[in-house]
Amino acid sequence: MSDNRIKILPENIANKIAAGEVVQRPESVVKELLENSIDAGSSEIDLIIKKAGKSLIQVCDNGSGMNEDDAILCIQKHATSKIKEYEDLEAISTLGFRGEALSSIASVSQFEIKTERKEDEIGTLIRVEDDESLTKLKGSYPKGTSISVKNLFYNTPARRNFLKTDATELKHIIDTFNKIALSHPETHFRLFNDNDVVFDYKTGTLENRINSVFADNMLDALLPAKENTDLFNVNGYIGKPSLLKKNKGEQYLFLNKRYVQSKQINHAVFTAYENILEKGDYPFFILFIELDPRRIDINVHPSKLEVRFEDEKDIYNIIVAVIKRSLGMHDLVPSMTITPNERGEEKIFFNSYVKAEKNDFSDRPKSSSPSNYKKEYSDSEIDQIFSGIPDDLKGNASLSNMDMPIENIFEKPLPKTQERIFQSNQNEETSAFIIQLHNKYILSQIKTGLMIIDQHVAHERILYEKIKKKYEGSSAFSQNLLFPITLELDPGKFNVVKELHSYLTKIGFDIKFFSKNTVVIEGVPEDIKSGHEEKILMEIVDEYVINFREKKLDEIESLAKAYSCKAAIKAGDSLNEKEMRLLIDQLFATENPYVCPHGRPIVIKISLDEFDRRFGRT
Ligand code: ADP
Ligand code: MG
Repeated sequence: MSDNRIKILPENIANKIAAGEVVQRPESVVKELLENSIDAGSSEIDLIIKKAGKSLIQVCDNGSGMNEDDAILCIQKHATSKIKEYEDLEAISTLGFRGEALSSIASVSQFEIKTERKEDEIGTLIRVEDDESLTKLKGSYPKGTSISVKNLFYNTPARRNFLKTDATELKHIIDTFNKIALSHPETHFRLFNDNDVVFDYKTGTLENRINSVFADNMLDALLPAKENTDLFNVNGYIGKPSLLKKNKGEQYLFLNKRYVQSKQINHAVFTAYENILEKGDYPFFILFIELDPRRIDINVHPSKLEVRFEDEKDIYNIIVAVIKRSLGMHDLVPSMTITPNERGEEKIFFNSYVKAEKNDFSDRPKSSSPSNYKKEYSDSEIDQIFSGIPDDLKGNASLSNMDMPIENIFEKPLPKTQERIFQSNQNEETSAFIIQLHNKYILSQIKTGLMIIDQHVAHERILYEKIKKKYEGSSAFSQNLLFPITLELDPGKFNVVKELHSYLTKIGFDIKFFSKNTVVIEGVPEDIKSGHEEKILMEIVDEYVINFREKKLDEIESLAKAYSCKAAIKAGDSLNEKEMRLLIDQLFATENPYVCPHGRPIVIKISLDEFDRRFGRT
């Protein structure tokens, strides 16, 4: 008797082990079967699920079908029609290619194929029996292929025990179904779960498909991103900042129509969103990259999820640029509508974004140019206005005519002079009204209606960009304090201020250090309100520590955000008209006037149409 310890595994055991790589859960089967149907050129694909795929996964398609020989062959190991020689592997254009999915799935389930080609009169049914023998039947079946996978892992109980709850497994299935459906809008997909139709995605454009997979108004929340380069083409949509997601699951990257994951591409997109994102926020995106298959390696893992790019750096840089351009090209102003729901309750919607070129200045509050802005009437002008009004209305009009119906006052035609003054004022469009609401919001007339600006975040944006510029330039101008402020800090704060000294100097603080944790503020940046120097510096230090230690921003970003937040005017600060106009001018001179450094909206618009609707004018 031989005492060799090494034995070649019987094929059925080897298959089951190999199957573990391809088939981890019902979702993996769904993915492989759907991809095969797509590779077979199907225009209609049904996925039928029972008990979260644990009792049945069936995919029916109207694709090419298989002849009898292929139907038998396709469940053999390494049986594939998609590559013939090694060179083909370098340029994969199909979703499958390893030829191991069906053999793996068949080895761990009760497996059956019904298939019939268009050109054939009769089709084939192949069933894998529990003893792994094959049963073959000839018969008339629908054109295309139907593969049913019953009782997955019935013969590998350990694996079956590893499956999660039905809800979890079903969620995985739906995620994959949706990803594949998104990447093939030209294909009609249906999902049946325990006999109910859950999804029915009709054939259409990518845009149609996005709306059916997500929500009817999803496109309103997205910005298009598109670029064709020599190296690759990218096309798709990115989320407006309002659609930032805390979970990482909402990034859809398709490489040559295959769903893939790439840390590099994710990072490129995050980088492009820059300060619109807080740490922990992830932008939503659906991006399709088309790239010569020879320049990528998708063969890294059997699930074919990970990709490697040959030209990683170039691709990274181009993606950053494309996303930045999309974000910059679109006016990110949420426009507000108020719509009653079925119960008559009014709901405010902010998500219908107005798309406008960033450099379209027509729809912004008028600037503060003083020459064409009229504040007061001279005495003689006032006399002129009132000269045509009957005496009994003049002077005591406010008291004695209170009860008079208002239309009577205007019955008499206005005198010529009065008309002229009113008209000339109207022609000076720039006298657009501007008011401050509750010392918090600035309301201003714009061409299309009303613009509302949150004064704090607007100022925050202005200061944020200013600080960032100061870092790049030489040291900033510091406003010397007449009475330097001496502060005794606790050792922790003292050290932070010391660490930050060079940065603080760059942005305009003039701080001296003394022993025993004492600092003296001798000068501050011009934006800091006098009387608040000490308080604001301390707030900046506290906020910096949070940004740097907890949110893990870098020093400059931490300080810029802390400074802009703490030095900005607050809700509650009263502004005069000149200050408001200056704020608006400066805001629209920033790179991104619509989103504050923390991602909150700065501006919303309400259109005249919305007003007209509300007043029943339409
Ligand atoms: P791969 O997709 O990597 O080639 P699979 O094991 O998934 O390997 O499939 C093996 C072969 O079976 C495929 O190459 C294809 O020829 C055939 N096949 C599988 N599913 C279908 C289908 N739905 N319609 C037509 N042919 C199919
Ligand atoms: Mg396959």
